Amino acid sequence: MSNNYLDIDNATFKIGGKIRVKNVSFSIKNKGDIVCILGPSGIGKTTILRTIAGLEKLEKGTIKLKGNIISSKDINIEPENRNIALSFQENSLFPHYTIDRNIQLALERKNTNSKKKINSNEIIKLLGISKILDKYPHQVSAGEAQRASLARSLSSNPDLLLLDEPLSNIDTSFKEEIQVELKQILNKFKITTIIVTHDSYEAFYLGNKCGVVLDNKLEQYDTPYNLYHFPNSIKIVKFLNRGVLIPAVITSPKSLENDELGTITGNFAKQYPIGSKVKLLLQPEDLEHDDKSNLKLEVVDIKFRGSNFIYTLLTETKKKLSVILDSHHIHQHKLHDKFGIKRPIHIEHIVCF
Ligand code: ADP
Ligand code: MG
Repeated sequence: MSNNYLDIDNATFKIGGKIRVKNVSFSIKNKGDIVCILGPSGIGKTTILRTIAGLEKLEKGTIKLKGNIISSKDINIEPENRNIALSFQENSLFPHYTIDRNIQLALERKNTNSKKKINSNEIIKLLGISKILDKYPHQVSAGEAQRASLARSLSSNPDLLLLDEPLSNIDTSFKEEIQVELKQILNKFKITTIIVTHDSYEAFYLGNKCGVVLDNKLEQYDTPYNLYHFPNSIKIVKFLNRGVLIPAVITSPKSLENDELGTITGNFAKQYPIGSKVKLLLQPEDLEHDDKSNLKLEVVDIKFRGSNFIYTLLTETKKKLSVILDSHHIHQHKLHDKFGIKRPIHIEHIVCF
C-alpha cells in the first residue's frame, strides 16, 4: 500500500463516448504538492480534471485520494462527496450574484468545520480583487473574473484543487505577480493542486512535478528540471520547443562530433556505443558566444528580451540554433552578420535520441 496523497493508476479517460487519454499513472506524494499538466489543445486535459472531480466516469484504472478509491470502473463517488474543487477554464461564476457573494458561497456550501476554512479576505487581498467585490460577473474583465473564481476555489480549502488554465485570461504584465501569489497561497495553506496550463514556464514555476500529455498518453511525468534537461522523447523536445536536434556521431564516453560544430564534450544522460549516429539536443544555454572563435554562423533573427538577447543562427544544413546573450554585450551583432561560437562546445547534460 502506498502512502501517496493521490494515486492515479492506469487510468483511461473518456469523454463524448471516445477515449481521450489512455493508461495514465502518476502520484502526488505529499499534501500540498503542486502538479502541472501540459499538453496541446484538445488532447484531453480538461477531461482528466473533470474525471478526477467526478463529473465524468473513469473508463479504466483507479483514482485514489488519501487512500480511498474515488473513481474506478465500478466506483464513482459523487462530485459533492469528494471535497475536490474544480475551477473551470471558462468563467463559472454565478451571474446573478456579486463577486463577493460568489466567493462566500464557496464557504457556505462546505460542510467542513470552520477550522479548516481559509480566510477569504486574505485571498481577496492577495489576488487584488478587493475593488470588484460589489460588482456582478458581467461587470468585470475576463481576467478579474478568473481571479474571482480562483479566490472562490481557494476559499473552500478542498482536499484537492483542480485549476483549468486559471491564468489564461490574465494580462502578461500581471501574470507573473499572480503566479507568485498563487504559489504562496497554495504553499501556505498546503493545498494539493493539479493545474492545467499551456504555458511551460508557468508549469515549471508552479509545479513540483509536471506531466506532459501528448498523443493520448502521459508522455513524461517528472520534475520541471528533468523535463527540460532530460526530455524522454523527441516528442517532448518538440512540444517544449526549446531546443534543436542536430546529427552527431559518438566519439568517446564524453564526446561527440558534428560536422559543422566540431567536437562537443560533456556528460551523457545515457551511454551510446562509440560510432553511433545520434540526434543531439542543443538548447540555447548550451552555446556560448565568442567573437574570437573561428566557428562562425550567420545571424538570421535577433530577439530583444530586456535582460538578454536571443540570437538565432543558421547552420549550413539549415538548422536554427539559439544563443542567449546578456543585453550589455557591447558588440551588438546585426542580422546576417557572422557570429562566433566558443569552441569546443561543452554541454552539461548531453541528451541524444
Ligand atoms: P483540452 O482540455 O486538452 O483542450 P478536452 O479535454 O477539453 O481537451 O477535450 C478533449 C477532446 O474531447 C476534444 O477533442 C474535445 O473536442 C472533445 N470533447 C470535450 N468535451 C466533450 C463532450 N462533452 N462531448 C464530446 N466531445 C468532447
Ligand atoms: Mg481544456
